[in-house]
Amino acid sequence: MGRWSYSSRWTVEECKTITTKFLNEHKYFDGGVRWGGMNWSRNGEKTGSIGFVVSTVEGDEYIRFQYTQTDRNTDEKTELDYKARLDWTPCYFGGRRWWFICPLVINGRVCNRRVGSLHLGGGKYFGCRHCYNLTYESSKESHKFDRVFREMGVTAKQAKELFK
Ligand SMILES: [Zn+2]
Repeated sequence: MGRWSYSSRWTVEECKTITTKFLNEHKYFDGGVRWGGMNWSRNGEKTGSIGFVVSTVEGDEYIRFQYTQTDRNTDEKTELDYKARLDWTPCYFGGRRWWFICPLVINGRVCNRRVGSLHLGGGKYFGCRHCYNLTYESSKESHKFDRVFREMGVTAKQAKELFK
């Protein structure tokens, strides 16, 4: 894994994103090891799909990603199969809030940030917003994320901490 360079910064909206909220809603955190998948589309056109395995087994919590990435320039296909660790914190109202531990290695160091969403930016691997240096679309658009943050149960200020 390495660092990618971009001619322009990607926005969160352009990326394929997976959130712990999605996994939670689809019962992937309800125990044991669960298999699943996810599709993305843009303007009605399918832009990608992945398979994954989620383990909430005590002491071995992870999400394993399995997908094929096609290089935009060379059309070369790469089979990806790797894990990102999962972590959880107790919820105020009981239960657990789950987090991804960003698995990206930047300049020889594992990111290890605890995040609620991982993005497939310009690279082959899922990583956090910070690693991919993502930006949000216009400030007008950023209000869209106020709602997302509310749904995540965090304030905009906390969210800023999460994504910094
Ligand atoms: Zn990261």
